[in-house]
Amino acid sequence: MNNLAYDVLIVGGGGAGLRAAVAAVEADSRLSVGVVSKVYPMRSHTVSAEGGLAAVVRDDDNLDSHAFDTIKGSDFLADQDVVEAFVKEAPDEAIQLEHWGCPWSRDQDGRVSVRAFGGMTVKRTLYAADKTGFHMLHALFQTSLKYTSIHRHDEFFVTSLLVEEGRVCGVAALNLQSGGLQAIQAKAVILSTGGGGRIFPFTTNAAIKTGDGMAMAYRAGCPLKDMEFVQYHPTGLPGTGILMTEASRGEGGYLVNSEGDRYLSEYVPGKMELGPRDILSRSFVHELRAGRVFEDEQGQYVHLDLRHLGEKVIDEKLPFVRELTRNYVGIDPVHDPIPVRPVVHYMMGGVHTDIDGRTPIEGLYSAGECACVSLNGANRLGSNSLTECLVFGARAGKSAAAHAMEQDQQRLGALEHLTREEEERIKSRFFSEAPEEESIADIRTDLQKAMEAGAGIYRTREGLEKACEDIAGLRRRYDNVRVQDHSNVFNTQLTAAIELGFMLDVAESLAHSALRREESRGSHARSDFEERNDDAFLQHSLAYRGVEDGDTPRIDYLPATITRWQPEERTY
Ligand SMILES: Cc1cc2nc3c(=O)[nH]c(=O)nc-3n(C[C@H](O)[C@H](O)[C@H](O)COP(=O)(O)OP(=O)(O)OC[C@H]3O[C@@H](n4cnc5c(N)ncnc54)[C@H](O)[C@@H]3O)c2cc1C
Repeated sequence: MNNLAYDVLIVGGGGAGLRAAVAAVEADSRLSVGVVSKVYPMRSHTVSAEGGLAAVVRDDDNLDSHAFDTIKGSDFLADQDVVEAFVKEAPDEAIQLEHWGCPWSRDQDGRVSVRAFGGMTVKRTLYAADKTGFHMLHALFQTSLKYTSIHRHDEFFVTSLLVEEGRVCGVAALNLQSGGLQAIQAKAVILSTGGGGRIFPFTTNAAIKTGDGMAMAYRAGCPLKDMEFVQYHPTGLPGTGILMTEASRGEGGYLVNSEGDRYLSEYVPGKMELGPRDILSRSFVHELRAGRVFEDEQGQYVHLDLRHLGEKVIDEKLPFVRELTRNYVGIDPVHDPIPVRPVVHYMMGGVHTDIDGRTPIEGLYSAGECACVSLNGANRLGSNSLTECLVFGARAGKSAAAHAMEQDQQRLGALEHLTREEEERIKSRFFSEAPEEESIADIRTDLQKAMEAGAGIYRTREGLEKACEDIAGLRRRYDNVRVQDHSNVFNTQLTAAIELGFMLDVAESLAHSALRREESRGSHARSDFEERNDDAFLQHSLAYRGVEDGDTPRIDYLPATITRWQPEERTY
């Protein structure tokens, strides 16, 4: 077997992964860095981010304000030391990104433009029209190309972490072009594989967002933190789930019900359309229950009305919104209101890390949406995530580099043994005879339905218990999934089967964490426990995978870090 070996190996070529790669080589130019991605890096989900990136860059703004908005948005579950580091390092990251080539939109006077975003007290979201992620990822990708010590393996699909004596020593990856399983050795591995919104039926998330890194860490014994917190974005296009960026409301768009009212005056009078996403998504459910929504063959929805902004503003600030609505719903937002409804968008939870991206497993790091560094708590504010990829991607890259520098040469023999085991597992798991074969698509659809029914915007004990049972049943059915396609080149049936396994793990940790949290906080709204309960739950949940197959996960708790801002009632 042809082994590849790096000092630092990064799984994921999105915003967090590429930022980590650059930080690692800049930490020490002697280090070799590998970047593995199941798709070409420019196809990572980061590319689709529209609205912008939050950072304090104006005189009317200050770091404490950004910190407090983030903490209040998180419903006080964010770790405040993490938030303080984040707001402090964000402006430098934003400026550096421009030096690397990101074309921030600018005002007439030459200053970088900022726009309003939900839950932020002042305008502090930098943007590149409404294609911010596209420009950000280009800038990072180009920068990564400058370094000869960064080696990319595009279209390599990582199937598992290789762990020896409690220490991560690399990964096993399918080379999608040849079909071979490849061991990639590393002194430190950073998981930056993004989120897992695909476990829900209606999502803005790309098809590749199946929670792979979260599941791999969970299988290796690393806890997943705060998995119960799932963000619904209030404005997705019915039918497709395509995002209508929050920038549409930041630029002044209205949300209007079927009676023609800007209904948010009843729920977030102080902020209206610029309230945080969890509250806006719940407001939609109330309107739906009151019968004040539109309905057609695509389902129920309200209107996002941009008409009063005029063609010039829409073309300058929201060109992508116009392009998407014309192409996907055949309307022009200059003349027609846009149908929208809440859509699963982001996972606040993920791989448990400290402020430097370190996980409890030696040699394992994580950053970006895959990780939970505890910046977003129970609800993320829009435009903090791209910044999170930069700040904590850089931190993870640096700490993984420091760890790698301290390690001796690795032992290759053990790695080969682990890789052969993984090869055998995949072969017997997916290519042997099964008593009765199950379909990947059927199980995936049933999983998505179970998650929406039991772990959606509003949750109850009965609903969550049912979701946990359903997931356990789907796991049993998954044991009978087999792959009929035996070809080597781009065997997408095999990768879909492996991804489904990852999705089941992520769903299991999510539903069990949600069942145990008997309070309502941020995006986690329990109809049977409507109040926030700081006495019992001002704590992060940690889900550990059961030891034996069939075991339910163990849920543990870790107190949130409070530095300067005591929890208070969250009203807007
Ligand atoms: C439509 C949309 C719009 C958004 N808009 C904004 C916005 O305006 N502002 C904001 O702050 N946030 C926004 N977000 C959220 C933000 O874009 C994401 O949270 C962030 O980009 C995630 O970046 P990441 O690097 O963690 O992961 P991703 O960009 O998702 O990258 C994941 C990488 O991991 C790789 N990978 C995954 N699994 C494997 C595997 N098994 N083997 C090998 N490689 C693997 C993938 O190939 C990919 O390269 C938006 C999200 C969406 C969906």
